[in-house]
Amino acid sequence: STVFDVQRVRADFPLLARSVHGKPLIYFDNANTSQKPQTVIDAVDEHYRRHNANVSRAVHLLGEEATAAYENARDRLAGLVNAASRGEVVLTSGTTQSINLVAYSYALPRLRPGDAILTTVMEHHANIVPWQLVAARAGATVKAAPIDARGELIVEKYVEMLTPEVKLACVTHVSNVLGTVNPVRELARECRRRGIPLLVDGSQAVPHRPVDVQALGCDFYAFTGHKMLAPTGTGALWARREHLEAMPPFFGGGEMIREVKFSGTTFADPPHRFEAGTPNIAGFAGVGAAIDYYASLGFEAVHAWEQQLLAYATARLREVPGLRLFGEAKEKEPVISFLVEGAQATDLATLLDLEGVAVRSGHHCAHPLMQFYGVPATLRASLAFYNTLEEVDAFVTALLKVRRLLM
Ligand code: PMP
Repeated sequence: STVFDVQRVRADFPLLARSVHGKPLIYFDNANTSQKPQTVIDAVDEHYRRHNANVSRAVHLLGEEATAAYENARDRLAGLVNAASRGEVVLTSGTTQSINLVAYSYALPRLRPGDAILTTVMEHHANIVPWQLVAARAGATVKAAPIDARGELIVEKYVEMLTPEVKLACVTHVSNVLGTVNPVRELARECRRRGIPLLVDGSQAVPHRPVDVQALGCDFYAFTGHKMLAPTGTGALWARREHLEAMPPFFGGGEMIREVKFSGTTFADPPHRFEAGTPNIAGFAGVGAAIDYYASLGFEAVHAWEQQLLAYATARLREVPGLRLFGEAKEKEPVISFLVEGAQATDLATLLDLEGVAVRSGHHCAHPLMQFYGVPATLRASLAFYNTLEEVDAFVTALLKVRRLLM
């Protein structure tokens, strides 16, 4: 048992105090987006009240302050994932933009007809569709490594599929549907042996566990701010310096150039080369506060409490008659997908909402994974460190009740 003071933590999140449909809110849709602590809300508010100006363009004090907040987010994100330097962190609007940047700026110029990109069956569409788009332009293909019935990647198959025509390998660190933690270190080692760069989708890992990109040994690590307490429209791409230096810009515009002439424009060094236009400055002011908040709790403490919640919720859900769990990997983050026999996922989610419980139902932007399991949708309860064992109990009670209504 842990000394994690969840009631004190909850008091830092104003939204958690509200009710929905006259019931106390139980927010179990954290894999979709997390709630924000007051300190993050204050940082955004403070930015607009006191510091609002554009970045990098003005010599006046407000411009300097806004630039400092924005560049501070880069430092903090670099520290968060243990980048070798701040210059390896490109600030983006989120994982989707980060992966598209790699697709268009790194993969596309390197892909030749007959080449392939390797991904997996358990990926979010953000780690499938960008690869399909650039592969189609280049006459290349996208291959998907299989998973087993427990929802674990079949590592030997993934490694077998790392053939010479594969120019880039991709994998999610943690599945947004199954919660499965993939063995990224091992995959990175196998990729490196074959000279194939590895991109990791860290969207669902960074909110839950300490991440060290150097220890993982991957080449690209994409993640999103809004799932880790920060405002929406913030995210990052970490990439090895040599990759960023070899990448042409993807978006063109202000802020990313050295000199513009109609006879030819030269570009800024990375990471600014990839940050055209005015970014989400207020959002990035919130990123610093979000990382401070995690640091104040301690990632190890967060992880330990979430693992307790996961174990408890999984055990309680197993008591529900006719419940089928998806994803029983040995190592998981607190994401639980399930179906209940005789009831539609959407009907259950709608009735749960009336009980105050926010869960997601649907395909979770993972059609291939739904096809693998032969279901159109699942229900997904995704937990965060500010959730409680009492909420899990109330959720299971509500699920039993709405199940009876639908039987
Ligand atoms: N990958 C995974 C595994 C995700 O869970 C998500 C968000 N649902 C994304 C990518 C996309 O992130 P964003 O919408 O923030 O770009």
